[in-house]
Amino acid sequence: MNQFNLPGCLFIEEGACERLNEILADCIPGIEKKRTVIATEESLLPIMGAYLDEMKRDLPKSELYLIEENSFEEAMELAKYICMKDVEVIIGVGGGKVLDVAKYAGFVGKISYICVPTTLSNDSLSSPVAVLGTEGDARKTFKCTIPAGIVVDVNVVINAPLSHLQSGIGDTISKYTALYDWKLDAAHRGDRVDGFSYLLSDMAFSSLCYNEEKSLKSKEFIKILTQALVLGGLAMEIAGNSRPSSGSEHLFCHSLEENYREISISHGMAVALGSLVSCRLQGRDVSRLETVMRAYHMDMDPMNWGITKKIFTDAWLKAADTRKDRYTVLNEVALTSDLLGGIYDELRR
Ligand SMILES: [Zn+2]
Repeated sequence: MNQFNLPGCLFIEEGACERLNEILADCIPGIEKKRTVIATEESLLPIMGAYLDEMKRDLPKSELYLIEENSFEEAMELAKYICMKDVEVIIGVGGGKVLDVAKYAGFVGKISYICVPTTLSNDSLSSPVAVLGTEGDARKTFKCTIPAGIVVDVNVVINAPLSHLQSGIGDTISKYTALYDWKLDAAHRGDRVDGFSYLLSDMAFSSLCYNEEKSLKSKEFIKILTQALVLGGLAMEIAGNSRPSSGSEHLFCHSLEENYREISISHGMAVALGSLVSCRLQGRDVSRLETVMRAYHMDMDPMNWGITKKIFTDAWLKAADTRKDRYTVLNEVALTSDLLGGIYDELRR
């Protein structure tokens, strides 16, 4: 069995940021005596400034570090800062950009990392990977450790843009096809499907799929989405790989990123569109996915995301090559321009 870690603390509550110092002390006893970096980004200062000021006051050995871009270089710069200044704890406050840089820098610096998300756009919240930009290339996924603590203030995240929350939904419902592909791999190549990871990932999908609360701006929904994303990240940690969360639908997303960088679509939305296609290729009923996407007003027409039939077809034809070591439904179906063109037309109806 794979060796895994679990976050020492998880807080999903309304007003968590108002009692952040109490929560942080619970996550890391003696934190007030430790040298701490609070990593965030400038655009969040007007929104999170009061909480950050309070944190700095109660953590006398802390300092603010502003992250400018989601890149490997930026993460290494921060890791160097951590090592040179003998920093013992890093707290990431922000969206995916800040959290992935802080997570990877904390991993390289071998220190505890606590994440305080201000939005919910993918399952990197609790996952053992960081997705970072690399020079002259698409983004790359780097292995690292999961956070020591996760603190989600429902009152903060509820103000996140709708598109971010829809992206978080997309990354969750894509598990429907990812799990199927994982089983295909097990059946054809003998890859091991870890039952516990499978269960957690399936629970994440089901919790959104069968959720009665359809308002993205309700506190109940924010709690459910957070739990789903946390479960998705933990499933990867327990499996020791990303298979419980990533199948052929993610390969489509990687292919778009690598071959069509001009397409502006969030990770979660791209993998959700990918799932609509993977599900058809897997010969399964796609209505369950469509119902969820429709309920949360997620646009299923690829053209509205700037993905023409030519781009769509080409991205799918190149998808399997983005991760050649992966066995998915793409290894079993003979993809042709005609087949993909037909699916594209169906998606546009
Ligand atoms: Zn994903």
